[in-house]
Amino acid sequence: MRVFEKAPAKINLTLDVLYKRPDQYHEVEMVMTTIDLADRLELIEIQTDQIVIESESKYVPNDERNLAYQAAELIKRSYNITKGIKIIIDKQIPVAAGLAGGSSDAAATLRGLNRLWSLNISTHKLATLGAQIGSDVSFCVYNSTAIARGRGEKIMTLPTPPACWVILAKPSIGVSTPSIYQHLDLSNIDHPNTEQMIKAIQTNDYQLMIDHLGNVLESVTLKQYSEVGQIKTLMESSGADAVLMSGSGPTVYGLTRQESRADRIYNSLRGFCQEVFVVRLLGV
Ligand code: ATP
Repeated sequence: MRVFEKAPAKINLTLDVLYKRPDQYHEVEMVMTTIDLADRLELIEIQTDQIVIESESKYVPNDERNLAYQAAELIKRSYNITKGIKIIIDKQIPVAAGLAGGSSDAAATLRGLNRLWSLNISTHKLATLGAQIGSDVSFCVYNSTAIARGRGEKIMTLPTPPACWVILAKPSIGVSTPSIYQHLDLSNIDHPNTEQMIKAIQTNDYQLMIDHLGNVLESVTLKQYSEVGQIKTLMESSGADAVLMSGSGPTVYGLTRQESRADRIYNSLRGFCQEVFVVRLLGV
């Protein structure tokens, strides 16, 4: 018995931090969508009551630190399942990049085990379970375009955004998300207009979407890592309609509707950065 699941990366079209809550978490508001850059997971039932992770990526832990492991453990515990599972992760999404790769693997594991073991868990319930693993897991369970509020676990789905190409470049640095949040000055934030972004998606207005991309963490990461700014400048001068950092970075993406321009931007970045991708926006 085995199932396959795709685990797409996400990008932030907006990322806003509203305030710091009494429980010390930041109250966020983020419009996120999925892109056609995905890990592939194979879930195989095994005879012994164990969770086994296999991945060729040297950056991904193969023990209980792996978010896919945690997802399998959560399902087994919550539904009293004594069967074992082997999870083979074909890692395509850059790690610690701001693209929610680990969260998407966890969400794909939740969806996959729901199918493999015919558990009939609703998407809403899976997303609630996912929030116990990490705040981006709920969004990844839905696998679509959505606005996330709270710590990121309160999800309201949105229609598919206007079609376009996404060029992504990840400098070879690791960024610690908690450290970026620590350096965010809440009294001096240039908030994105989330309402306009939602309107752009609902009315399928590409230009309105371009005009309202925004991420309050970008300026914090830019100050700490000059590579991120260099990539932004290069993407802008190569013809991207808009350029933004995803999550807490360091991945930067640019958008364009023209394939030839996407190729040009990709080629201009390849010499500068090892991890560069051109993909379509998915968001369905
Ligand atoms: P987010 O955008 O949600 O902050 P990210 O893209 O910045 O996520 P991930 O790629 O999810 O970051 O990885 C963050 C850390 O999680 C890594 O240091 C890695 O060791 C750990 N990790 C655990 N499980 C996985 C997994 N399945 N894939 C990738 N990283 C994982």
